[in-house]
Amino acid sequence: MANLAGTPADLIDCPDCGTLQRIPARWGWTVLLCKRCTGVLERTNLRSFDASLALSIAALLLMVPSLSLTFLTTSISGATRSSLLGSSAVAMIEDGWPVLGIIIFLFTVIAPLLRYSLLSLVLGLLRLDAHPHWLGRAFRFANALQTWAMTDVYLLGLAVAYMRLKASLNVQMGAGAKCLIVVGVLSLFIRAVLDKEEVWRAIGLGRAARSGRGEPANAMPLANGNSPITCLGCDLVVIASSEGHNCPRCDKTLHRRKPDSIARAVALTTAGILLYIPANVYPIATLPIGFSSVKYTVIEGVIDLAKARLWGLALLVLTASFAIPLLKLVGLAWCLVSVAARSVWRLPLKTRVFRGIEEIGRWSMIDPFVISCFVPVTHYNALIYGRAEPAAPAFTAVVILTIIATKCFDPRLMWDVKGKAS
Ligand SMILES: [Zn+2]
Ligand SMILES: [Zn+2]
Repeated sequence: MANLAGTPADLIDCPDCGTLQRIPARWGWTVLLCKRCTGVLERTNLRSFDASLALSIAALLLMVPSLSLTFLTTSISGATRSSLLGSSAVAMIEDGWPVLGIIIFLFTVIAPLLRYSLLSLVLGLLRLDAHPHWLGRAFRFANALQTWAMTDVYLLGLAVAYMRLKASLNVQMGAGAKCLIVVGVLSLFIRAVLDKEEVWRAIGLGRAARSGRGEPANAMPLANGNSPITCLGCDLVVIASSEGHNCPRCDKTLHRRKPDSIARAVALTTAGILLYIPANVYPIATLPIGFSSVKYTVIEGVIDLAKARLWGLALLVLTASFAIPLLKLVGLAWCLVSVAARSVWRLPLKTRVFRGIEEIGRWSMIDPFVISCFVPVTHYNALIYGRAEPAAPAFTAVVILTIIATKCFDPRLMWDVKGKAS
C-alpha cells in the first residue's frame, strides 16, 4: 500500500476563495482553516481509511436486503398492500409520472448502489496496493455521487410517510425498510470518516509509481509569475500550463475556474425560480386521510401535519419543502448578483451562505420521497388512494435545478473581484 500517513507538506487552493496556501505536515487529528475566508480547507479529525472501507462494504451489502425484502405494508378492513423499495418508481410510472418515478429510482437505488460499489472498489484496491489507471476517475465519480445518493434524505421522507400513514391506516415497516435505515445511517458515517485528501494522495502516489516518476504529479516546481491552477475534480494543484489538459490524478479536464459558471448558474437559477411558483401553487399529492383522499399543496400538507399535532414533522416539512428551496434561490441570486456587480461587501458571509446552500440543498427532496413511500401502499380503491399531482415534478425539478446551479457556480469568482490576498 502507498504511504497514506505522513505525506509531505503540499499546496492547497481554497475551494471557496481561491487562495493558494501551504498545508503544514500534519500530526494527529486536526481541522485546517483557510487563512483568508476561514472556510474549512481540510479536516483530518475523525477520519479513518479502514473504517471508510468497512462502512462502504457494509452499506453495499445491506442494499441487497433493502431492495429485496418488504418495505412497507398497510392494511385496512382486511385488505393489505405491500411495497418494495423499487415499487415507488413503478407505481409512479403507472400513475402517469414516468420522469418522477425514474428520478426517485435513480436517487434511492442506482446512485447509492453505484457510490458504495465504487467506494468499496477504490478503497479495497488501495488497501491491496493495486493502482489500475482508472482508479482516480472511479473515485471522482464516487465523490460526485455523494450528492445524488439520497438514502439519508430518504430516511426522513420515510419517517414522515410512516407517521402520516399511521394516522389513517395500519402500517408496518418491513425488514427492507429497516435495512435501508441502517444504510442511511452508515452513509452519514461514511461522509464523516472518509478522508478524501488521504485517498487522493494515495491515488497520486500510485500513479506516479506506475509512470516511473516515483513522485506525485504536482511535485514539480511552480514557474515564477505563473499562478498554479487547481483541479476541480480532486483539488490537485498543478502548474498553469496544464490548463486544458487532463488532470494527472483524476483525469478531469483542468480549468482555472468552472467553465461558463455564471451563464449556467443564472440559467438554472432562473428556471428554478419560474418552477418554484407552480411547485407551490398546484397540489403536490393526493393522500388518504381517514376514509377519503385529499389533494394537498406543499403548505396544505404542513397545515395538515400541524392539525394532527405532529409539530416536529410539520416544522421539518415546512423547512425542507418551503423554506430551503426559497433560501437556495435567494442565496444563489445574491451570489450571482455579487459577481455581476463586482461587489466585495461581506464576502466571507456570502461564501458561508453559498456553502450552506450547497450542503442543505438535497434535503428538500423529503416531500417527493414522502409521496414515493405513500403511493405503492395506498392504492386501495377510488376513495382511498395516494398519488403524485402536478406540483410534484415541478417541485423535484426545482430541487435538481438548484443543486446543479450550485455545482456550476464557482464561489472563487466572488473573491476574484477583490484580487489576490495580500
Ligand atoms: Zn478561503
Ligand atoms: Zn484531478
